[in-house]
Amino acid sequence: MIVGGVAGGMSAATRLRRLDEEASIIVLERSGHVSYANCGLPYFVGGVIEDEDDLLLQTPERLFDRFRLDVRVGSEVVAIDPATHTVAVRATGGGATSELPYDALVLSPGAAPLRPPLPGFDRVRVLRTVEDAEQLAGRARGAPRTAVVIGAGFVGLETAENLAGWGIRTTVVEAAEQVLTPLDPELAVLVAAELVAQGVAVETGVGVAEVTASGVVLADGRTIPGDLVVAAIGVRPDARLAEMAGLALGPHGGIAVDADGRTSAADVYAVGDAVEKADSIGVGSSLIALANIANRQGRRVADAICGRNVRPAPSQGTAIVKVFAVTAAMTGWNERRLRAEGRTYRVIHSHPMSHAAYFPGAEPMSLKLLFDPEDGAILGAQAVGGSGVDKRIDVLATAMAAGLRADGLADLELAYAPPFSSAKDPVNMLGYMAENLMSGECDVVEANELASLVASGWTLLDVRSEDEHAAGAIPGSRNVPLDALREGLGALGPGPFIVYCEVGQRGHTATMLLHELGIAARNLDGGYRTWRSADAAAAGDPHRLVRAEVPL
Ligand SMILES: Cc1cc2nc3c(=O)[nH]c(=O)nc-3n(C[C@H](O)[C@H](O)[C@H](O)COP(=O)(O)OP(=O)(O)OC[C@H]3O[C@@H](n4cnc5c(N)ncnc54)[C@H](O)[C@@H]3O)c2cc1C
Repeated sequence: MIVGGVAGGMSAATRLRRLDEEASIIVLERSGHVSYANCGLPYFVGGVIEDEDDLLLQTPERLFDRFRLDVRVGSEVVAIDPATHTVAVRATGGGATSELPYDALVLSPGAAPLRPPLPGFDRVRVLRTVEDAEQLAGRARGAPRTAVVIGAGFVGLETAENLAGWGIRTTVVEAAEQVLTPLDPELAVLVAAELVAQGVAVETGVGVAEVTASGVVLADGRTIPGDLVVAAIGVRPDARLAEMAGLALGPHGGIAVDADGRTSAADVYAVGDAVEKADSIGVGSSLIALANIANRQGRRVADAICGRNVRPAPSQGTAIVKVFAVTAAMTGWNERRLRAEGRTYRVIHSHPMSHAAYFPGAEPMSLKLLFDPEDGAILGAQAVGGSGVDKRIDVLATAMAAGLRADGLADLELAYAPPFSSAKDPVNMLGYMAENLMSGECDVVEANELASLVASGWTLLDVRSEDEHAAGAIPGSRNVPLDALREGLGALGPGPFIVYCEVGQRGHTATMLLHELGIAARNLDGGYRTWRSADAAAAGDPHRLVRAEVPL
C-alpha cells in the first residue's frame, strides 16, 4: 500500500513490481493525477511547457497496463492504524471512509506549502499541484499588470521568471537578507543582479506584513503593487498522518526513518519530502525537499521491503536552478552553516570560463569550494554562471560523495576539447588551489578580512594592468602591474602585502614572487571579482553589479 503517487511513491511502486510480480500493489493519491512533473509546474505557468499533458508523465491506466498497479486517484488516506495494519481512505473532499489492509505501507505524502497567518493571505496563490499550476497559468494569461512573489527560494525565483516572461511587472520579496539562502551571499547577489537586470524588482531583508486587494504591504510600511500574489516561502513535511498514527517524528518535524526507510511502526516505511534525511556531513538529520532524493528513497524502500540489502545513502542537498540566463547550483553545506556548526573550513573562490576562452561561446562562472583544511574533506561547493555550471557542481557532488579530498580534484582526469572545457578544467583548478593552501605554499585572504588587515598595516596591492585598475579597484589599493612588479617593488615599501588581481590567478603568481624575494604577502581569494560581489552583498545592493556590467 502506497500513500502518495508522485516522486517517491511511484518510484517505490514500480520498483516493487519489478522485484515482485505477485505482489498486490495499491497506490492511493489524493489529487486527480499521479506521477506528474511538479518540477515543471513553473514552466507551465510561464507557457514554456505549453501542453498540460506534457506534465502528466503517467496515467492510472498506463500504470495498470505496464505494471499492474492499482492506482486510485482522488483517494485520500485519512488515518493509519499500525496495530491492525489498515488505512482509512475516502474520496478526496469528503464521503464515507473505508478500511484497506496492508502488509507493508509506504508513506510518500510530500510536503505542504507554508502559509503564514498574515492578514489577507487567503488572496495568495501557491504552486504545488497541477491544479495550482492550471489556476496560476490562467491568471498569468489574463494579463495582470503586476505580480508579487513572496519568497526567493528555488520555486519563488522560477515562478518570478515565468511571470515576468508574460510581461508582468514582478517583484520578489524575501525576508532573508539575500535570495537563494542555500548559496552564500557573495554568490547569491549574482543571482539577484540577474533578476534586476531582467527587470524583476528584488526586495530582500524585509517581510510581508499584509496582503491587500492591490498587492502587499511590507513590514517597513512600503506597499508593492500586485494584481497577482504568489507565495513560495518553503514547505513543511506533511507528517500529519504519521503523527496521528503515533509514528516517531524527527527533531525538524519530519517522519523519522532509519537507513532503510523504516519508521517507528512495524511494516510502515516513509520516503521523500515528508521524512528527515541523514546528513552526509554532520551527524543527525535535516529536511531536504528534492526530487532526486525522493526517487532514490522510493527505489531503496522497495528493495528493503523485498528483503534486499540497502546501502546507506546520506543526503548532500545537491540542487540547481535556472534564473533567466544564470544557473545557480550547490552541494553540501554553505559557509553560513559551517560557521554555525563550529566546523573548521577553508574557502576557495574562482571565476573560470565554461570552456576554452578562445573558442566561441565561452561563458564565465563563479565557483566556491569549502573544505576541511586538516583532512581535505570536501564540505560544500556552489556555482553561479552560464553554461557548464551544472557539470562542475555534479562533478564536485560526485567527488564529495566518493570521499575525494579537495586537493585530489587536481588529479581528476576530465574530458576536454575546446568546445567543452579547458585542459585544466575549472574543477582541476580548484584542486590546484586547495593543494596550494593545504601544503602551505601560498596563503589567501578572504574579502571580509581585508579591513582588519589593512588597519594593522598591510598594503593592498593591485597587480592588474593600469587600465583595469582605472576601471575600478578596491579603495586604498596601489597599482603595480604583475609584469612590472620586480622593478616596481622599491617604490612600494616593505609590505606586508595583500595582493589582488581580477580573479586571483595573477595575484597568486605575484604572491609567489614576493615570497621568493622574502616579502610577506597573501593573495586575495577570488580577486577583485569576488571582492565586488562580497561588497555588493554586504551593501544589500545587487544594482552595483548590474550598473558596472561586470561579468560573473
Ligand atoms: C513547483 C515545484 C517545483 C519543483 N522543482 C524541483 C526541481 O527543479 N528539482 C527538485 O529536485 N525538486 C523540485 N521540487 C521538489 C520535488 O517536486 C519534491 O521534492 C518531490 O516531488 C518530493 O516527492 P514526494 O514523493 O516526497 O512528494 P510529492 O511528489 O509531492 O508527492 C506527494 C503526493 O502525495 C499525495 N498525498 C499527500 N497526502 C496524501 C494522503 N493523505 N492521501 C493520498 N495522497 C496523499 C499528494 O497529493 C502528492 O501528490 C519542486 C516542487 C515544486 C512544488
